[in-house]
Order: sequence, then C-alpha cells, then structure tokens
Amino acid sequence: QSQHNPSATWTQYTKALEHQTRETVNLTTKLRRALETDQLELHYQPQVDLVSGGIVSAEALLRWNHPQVGFIAPDQFIPLAEQSQLIGPIGDWVLRQACRDLRAWRDGGLPVTPVSINLSLIEFQLGSIPDKIRHALAEFDLPPGMLTLEITESVFEQHSQALRQDLETLSAMGVRLSLDDFGTGYSSLGHLNDYFFDEIKIDKSFIFQLDEGPYSQAIVKAVAVIAAALGADVVAEGLELVSQVATVRQLGCTKGQGYHFSRPVTESCWRQLLIDQNAFA
Ligand code: C2E
Ligand code: MG
Ligand code: MG
Ligand code: MG
Repeated sequence: QSQHNPSATWTQYTKALEHQTRETVNLTTKLRRALETDQLELHYQPQVDLVSGGIVSAEALLRWNHPQVGFIAPDQFIPLAEQSQLIGPIGDWVLRQACRDLRAWRDGGLPVTPVSINLSLIEFQLGSIPDKIRHALAEFDLPPGMLTLEITESVFEQHSQALRQDLETLSAMGVRLSLDDFGTGYSSLGHLNDYFFDEIKIDKSFIFQLDEGPYSQAIVKAVAVIAAALGADVVAEGLELVSQVATVRQLGCTKGQGYHFSRPVTESCWRQLLIDQNAFA
C-alpha cells in the first residue's frame, strides 16, 4: 500500500538517506579516531627482480587494524577518507611512517631497499606534496632515492597544471615516480609522453588474463618495450602463479610483485624478508 502513497515513500526515502548520512559520519569519526589512536598500519609487499630473484623494493600498503573487525583493506576506507578530506592527515601519516620505518631499518643495519607509497589525486589537490616529501626526507635523514611515489593513471583525467608542476619538482628532487595501474585509465600513451616516470606498473587485470588468449601477452610485451625505450622499469603486479612469473619475464618485465612471492606483510615480517634478501632467488 505505502508504495502508492507518495508522502510515505518520501518519508521512507528521507529516513534511509538520514540513516546513510549518519553511517558515513559515524565511519568518518571512527576513521579519524583510528588515525589518532594508532589503529593504522603499513604493511609491506616485496617487489622482486625477475632475473636475480632478489628483493629490490617494498610497496607500503595501508591497513586499518580495527579493534573489533580486524584488518580493513584500503579500498574500504580510502574513498571515504577522500570525501571527508581526512586523506590529508592520513597521507601525512603514511609518508612519515614509511620514512620512520626506513630510518629504523637503516639504523638496525638491515639491507634496506627503497619504499613505494601510494598517493591519490586528492592528496595532490590538497597541496604542498613536494614540501611534505622534502620535510619528511629531511626529518628522517633519508636520500630521496629511497622513496618512490605511486600515482594511478586516473589522476591525469583532469589535466592539472599544478599536478604537472608537482611531479616535475618531485622528479628534480630525486624522488622516484611510478605510474600505477597502467592500462586501466584512458590515453595511457599520452601520459608517458607528457610526464617522466621511473617505473610503470602494469595493472594486475592484464596479468590475470595472460592465459586467456594472445591479447594480454601482446599488451604486456608492448608496455615492456615502451618502458625500456623510455628507460623506465616495468613492474608486473598481481603475479600469483609461477607460470605468470615465467611469462612476464619472457615478455620483458624487469620486476614483479604478487602473492606468488609474498602477500603484503607486517613491518616485523618485512624485517625478516630483508634479512633473507634472496628469499625468492
Ligand atoms: P595498488 O597500489 O595497485 O596496490 C596493489 C594492490 O594489489 C594491493 O591491494 C595489494 O595487496 C594487491 N595485490 C598484490 N599482489 C596481488 C596478487 O598477487 N593478487 C591480488 N589479487 N592482489 C594483489 P590493497 O593493499 O588492498 O590496496 C588497494 C589499493 O588501495 C592500492 O592499489 C592503492 O591504490 C590504495 N592504497 C593502498 N595504500 C594506500 C595509501 O597509503 N594511500 C593511498 N592514497 N592509497 C592507498
Ligand atoms: Mg600501488
Ligand atoms: Mg596497482
Ligand atoms: Mg590499484
């Protein structure tokens, strides 16, 4: 009955909306508290040299260690953090935590590799990323080459002059730049022409399809050729199977990352991997 009564429908609708808004506000409050009470953690996943099998770097991946729920993946809360601009302080925390960990590994005499962190477009829009990076490197006394910034291709959907300026500044500082999730955005080749990247990461969707026909293999091979011509490293992400590792190596990828080698692990497990650098040789 009520669905034929417009005012009842409206009431239901606004109730649902109110509920939804309250949920979002709630979650944002919880996320803010999570940041303030040390519930955020960086996990590290190795990037492996596909020829030597040695670990060449680590990607820092954010986790929310929720007291009731356990680990929450970034896809579940980064979009919310972006909506509420909480991504600003969260991104600051990620940067400083990665630098703090790098400093601790160095001080502990571990065979340290560079670390990659992920930055979203909103973080650049909030401003002063180059300054923040410069300050963090100075605070923890780290050379810029120890830090790689991963930026997904989708950031270029808006042609931002400010973003271009930031990337040029960062590159000139000696920080490494990586184009993440390559192949999922649009006009990919144009971005390679317009910006300087030290590394291109082929999106895992191509890796998952390697066995399904010639197309993914052709694409991976073409990206590897382009990357080599540009003097950039090419990383295959999402390597889960030994056959995928063999295929991407043969297609010209220099580095790989994926569950086949290791899932992202806690900082203390990462120390163990560093100690046993040739774990995957
Ligand atoms: P991404 O940067 O493309 O990171 C790779 C994602 O693939 C990670 O998911 C990683 O755990 C997952 N992965 C790695 N190897 C495999 C594999 O072999 N198979 C499969 N199925 N997955 C694999 P995760 O950690 O859930 O992160 C998702 C996304 O969240 C990241 O994608 C990145 O865009 C974003 N993100 C993570 N940490 C941060 C952060 O600190 N700041 C920002 N702004 N974004 C972050
Ligand atoms: Mg990434
Ligand atoms: Mg990626
Ligand atoms: Mg991704």
